[in-house]
Amino acid sequence: MISRADLARLMNKPRGVVTTLVNELIKENLVVEGARTTAMRGRRPTLLSIRTEDRLVVAIDVRFSRTYIMLSDFSGRQLVMESFETNFSPERLVEKLADRINKILNYYDSTSACEGIGVVIPGIVEYQTGRIVFAPSLGWKDVEIRNALSEATGLPVHIENAAKACALAQLWNSKSTAGEVDNFVHVMVSDGIGVGIVINGELLRGENCMAGEFGHMPLNLEGPKCLCGKKGCWEVYASNLSTVSRYLGHDIFKTGINFDSMTENNKFTISDLVELALAGDAKAIKSVKTSAYYLGIGIANVVHAIDPTCVYIGGEITLAWSIIEKDVREALEERAFTEKASKVPILTASVVDHPRLRGAIALVSAPIFAIPRVA
Ligand SMILES: [Zn+2]
Repeated sequence: MISRADLARLMNKPRGVVTTLVNELIKENLVVEGARTTAMRGRRPTLLSIRTEDRLVVAIDVRFSRTYIMLSDFSGRQLVMESFETNFSPERLVEKLADRINKILNYYDSTSACEGIGVVIPGIVEYQTGRIVFAPSLGWKDVEIRNALSEATGLPVHIENAAKACALAQLWNSKSTAGEVDNFVHVMVSDGIGVGIVINGELLRGENCMAGEFGHMPLNLEGPKCLCGKKGCWEVYASNLSTVSRYLGHDIFKTGINFDSMTENNKFTISDLVELALAGDAKAIKSVKTSAYYLGIGIANVVHAIDPTCVYIGGEITLAWSIIEKDVREALEERAFTEKASKVPILTASVVDHPRLRGAIALVSAPIFAIPRVA
């Protein structure tokens, strides 16, 4: 909640301009007026907030291991959550998603309107067209699902790379709190590793929407094979697939990530592994600590390239942060050029909050409220 005066200060625009914009948003019922705040003297300003309650979003997180669907309202409140094994055929996946979404919305039988679907993908997504340029773990190259899913559900669909969406959600969230950070990276550790970059308060997409593909930056040119087909990428050493693969006894340094075994052992997940580590299982602890070391090495590269104010790290492995933080920091210190680089704050994004699904929600909810650029 914010007053018109504070909003004008935040936007660095005259009060009159802000009042005109706010009045338009109130007329469209996108912004609502709430309680009056306490003021030291004079008239008490009325607080404004975005109408969130009766506006729904379907958030979808497509991963190699599973696909998650969440129905939430604009504030991110979870109403329904489902997941199923990911189908790697884009047509089948769209069919299944549309079927589930239509059932969820019918079942929910709400008077609230669903305003769109946000989909996060582990790969490069062309922002302007929504085409998935390359998603190695899904085996997708130049794939289109946006229009098909939109036609099958009758809803607008927004697609984005998962790490970029997480960074967008982080940015959106920080704008509504006091602790706004303008320069940060969001390292998303999942079946792969993606990095969302925010510079001067803007998400960096790059000329071809490829910015942040640090997951495929090599740590060793002769290293194990990655799902992208190249050797020694960062994610071969530190992704969830690599952590689980290592625990299951595959020598990823010889064979690369054992794709078939991962599918066979789909029932044993990174969450199970982290639970074992937290319960004191030595093999599980070794597995997460090894990944943590490589996470730190990769983060040092990211810090040298971007020089962020802070690093957010998300993914199930961060539930074991009490076990792995030391390893991440030691590896970062080992590689960092300067004292400041070695001490960059690393903050975990709460797994309970489903950062990837928050990112998918932000794709639908944030663009409408992006700070208007007033000339
Ligand atoms: Zn790779």
